[in-house]
Amino acid sequence: MVLTLLRHAYLLPFCLLSAVLGAIWGSFLGVIIDRLPAMIVADGCADKNLFYPPSHCTHCQHTLRWWQNIPLLSWLLLRGQCAHCRQPIPLLWFLLEALSALFFAATVWVFPQPQAWLALWLLWSALLPLAVIDARHMLLPDCLTLPLLWCGLLLNLRGGWLSLQDAVVGAAAGYVFLWLLYWGYRLLRGREGIGQGDLKLVAAFGAWLGWQVLPQLLLFAAFLAILLFLLPRRDAAAAQPFGPSLCIAGGGIFILHSLLFIF
Ligand SMILES: [Zn+2]
Repeated sequence: MVLTLLRHAYLLPFCLLSAVLGAIWGSFLGVIIDRLPAMIVADGCADKNLFYPPSHCTHCQHTLRWWQNIPLLSWLLLRGQCAHCRQPIPLLWFLLEALSALFFAATVWVFPQPQAWLALWLLWSALLPLAVIDARHMLLPDCLTLPLLWCGLLLNLRGGWLSLQDAVVGAAAGYVFLWLLYWGYRLLRGREGIGQGDLKLVAAFGAWLGWQVLPQLLLFAAFLAILLFLLPRRDAAAAQPFGPSLCIAGGGIFILHSLLFIF
């Protein structure tokens, strides 16, 4: 009991530092979520990238001063409104920073190994933008899914979470299974039932979780997708993205595996 309290007292400064890092990183993930879809549509011809133009109000184009751009604090100080035109700043940007701060601090609090922090932060950095971008635009960008797949293989290069063999077979099996579903549905119904991005995301999860976990991942994700489908929506007939459900299911299973692996 005393040892546990001592360990947690020792971890407290690291948790606070991680929360600050998480809030700053969450702010950058917000920029990715906001700008990446338009950059992909413009195919390199966009007049903006992740770093230009500097942060500004999307209503009045007013460039933010440094004190209007501090993660979490600025949104609270400005009461969620632009200081120039008083139009609302979406709550989503504040939530991304707050959730990232909480997640970064919680990983340091729960997991004793720095390699677990890095793996979980890496996974968070890909899954959060993927889930939000897919929910808003029905798009899972290759520049996020493919590095996620490579990171999963590299993480298990020396048997980090599972054997390299299980990770490679997992990536291939995840892709091939969804590919068969994709073409089966397309041949039967004459239209796409699953997005191409979902194939790559499941392959990435195969690399992170191993082939043995793929049935649980797909069942859990399908169950979440049905729950989300039952929620009231603006356009009930519109296609529903599968990415957010996959991200929640895959991220949740990886956290659970890490807890079982470490404790
Ligand atoms: Zn404004």
